[in-house]
Amino acid sequence: MYPTIKDQDPTLHASMMAEAQRQKEGIELIPSENYVSQAVLEANGSILTNKYSEGYPGKRYYGGQENIDVIETLAIDRAKELFGAEHVNVQPYSGSPANTAIYFALLEFGDTVMGLKLDHGGHITHGLPIGFSGKAYDFVQYGVNPETGILDMEEVRKLAHEKKPKMIVAGFTAYPRDIDWKAFKEIADEVGAITMADISHTAGLVAGGVLESPVPFFDVVMTTTHKTLRGPRGAMIMCKQKFAKAIDRAIFPGLQGGPHEHAIAGKAICFAEALKPEFKDYALQVKKNAHHLAEALKKRDFKLVSDGTDTHLILADLTNKGVPGKEAQNALDHVGITLNKNTVPNDPRSPFDPSGIRLGTPAVTTRGMKEAEMEKIADWMDRAINAVNDQSVLDEIKKEVEAMCLEFPVPGIMI
Ligand SMILES: *Cc1c(COP(=O)(O)O)cnc(C)c1O
Repeated sequence: MYPTIKDQDPTLHASMMAEAQRQKEGIELIPSENYVSQAVLEANGSILTNKYSEGYPGKRYYGGQENIDVIETLAIDRAKELFGAEHVNVQPYSGSPANTAIYFALLEFGDTVMGLKLDHGGHITHGLPIGFSGKAYDFVQYGVNPETGILDMEEVRKLAHEKKPKMIVAGFTAYPRDIDWKAFKEIADEVGAITMADISHTAGLVAGGVLESPVPFFDVVMTTTHKTLRGPRGAMIMCKQKFAKAIDRAIFPGLQGGPHEHAIAGKAICFAEALKPEFKDYALQVKKNAHHLAEALKKRDFKLVSDGTDTHLILADLTNKGVPGKEAQNALDHVGITLNKNTVPNDPRSPFDPSGIRLGTPAVTTRGMKEAEMEKIADWMDRAINAVNDQSVLDEIKKEVEAMCLEFPVPGIMI
């Protein structure tokens, strides 16, 4: 792989190949990760990276746009078809800039915005006090019910009536359950708030038709393109026509310069792939695998936040196992199972050393793994977490993990 890089820069090449090996031999359970297709990889590494194209199709600030306009329009049209959106902007560099652009487009600095508490599953761009969103806007935060781990829509309603936010953000980075978009919309209408859905994690499941879409109800919906949607790193914003101009202006020239057309080509490919019938099978299997993995973990006495999942994502509180999230993450890293330590709602521990772990099934599903493999993964996780300090047990599990992984090729990795 990558023979030119090997020739020109062997030092860098060695690390790239080690990473390819790691991706091939290990089980990827980080719920925001996936494996893109060879076609998406090719677009990302293509000559489109050479072109500057500030502006939008038909209205550019540089010459030579006849091909770029076709490519970006393809991406926009396919995204509209995939999600049924009125207006789409495919230029955001990633999820965080997309969220920043939405706030910049539709709010004034200092406006009140409602978002989910970060330690209950909200994203850092939903009001982290030291972050841009938290400093520029007055974020007030709703939470999940401490007993059930499920969003408390009555609390959302109460807070909305009390704080009168200009915008309500519904969207989550560590929340395993279905979202009642209609209820959010009703509450927003009662107080005259703009509705913003951040479906970065679940866009692939929405596109695949296995989770409800907020697009018909919400004013603005954004997503990253590299998580369950399985496209290149990047993001997109969908909105009702009345917000189209404000959103486009906030992206360019408000926040970004030249769009990354190689990534936009990758998005066009990703949307075409997601429009195929096979993508529905993938989305359904992601959900089935997550459900099966959750049940298999519960059988092994793992305590799951909200007691399960409706999505691709599982959050486990390891307090009863006596193993903090960080130690579990390290032991699992050792056996080739990658996931991340994560806070659980109302976590008594710190975000750097939290009580839980977060995991999910998009990447393993893309590799073709099914329920039988989820059972094995649950078993390895249980054995590793029960033996965090036992090197010989961990070494043994690592061998078993590797043996299984070699039966499931990774798209784009030819070693
Ligand atoms: C991943 C994520 C983002 C940010 O995406 P980046 O591309 O990492 O900047 C925003 N919101 C949510 C809910 C996410 O999960």
